[in-house]
Amino acid sequence: MNTGSCLCKGIRFKVNKFEPLVGHCHCTMCQKFHGAAFSTFVEVKLHQFHWLSGKELLSSYTSENKTVRSFCNVCGASLFFESEYNRNDKTIEVSLAAFDHVDNIEGIKPDAHIFTESKASWVEINDDLAKHKTYRSE
Ligand SMILES: [Zn+2]
Ligand SMILES: [Zn+2]
Repeated sequence: MNTGSCLCKGIRFKVNKFEPLVGHCHCTMCQKFHGAAFSTFVEVKLHQFHWLSGKELLSSYTSENKTVRSFCNVCGASLFFESEYNRNDKTIEVSLAAFDHVDNIEGIKPDAHIFTESKASWVEINDDLAKHKTYRSE
């Protein structure tokens, strides 16, 4: 079972299956949301995502571009992201770092850095993953 939680453990969830897209996002909104250099989200189909506890603790913020970011309103942990693309595809992006256990962690490979045009100046990308200035398509 793939299980994740927030910092205070009030929110707990499980995911049956991951989609192949796992990207490191260097956009400024991910930086602010995570309080970190970049985010790493894994895409999950909504029907593969299940709440174990704490759904009522989830708060969300909708930014100007209509993307929605959700977090625990007790501990502030950054957990979920959805864009219009996700809504159309019935998927959600889940913070990979929020997982406590993943059955096959070797099977989860970030494939790209995206939005490198806004990469923090104090971070160096030292791996061989594809780099995209904005979205994967660009
Ligand atoms: Zn929490
Ligand atoms: Zn981002």
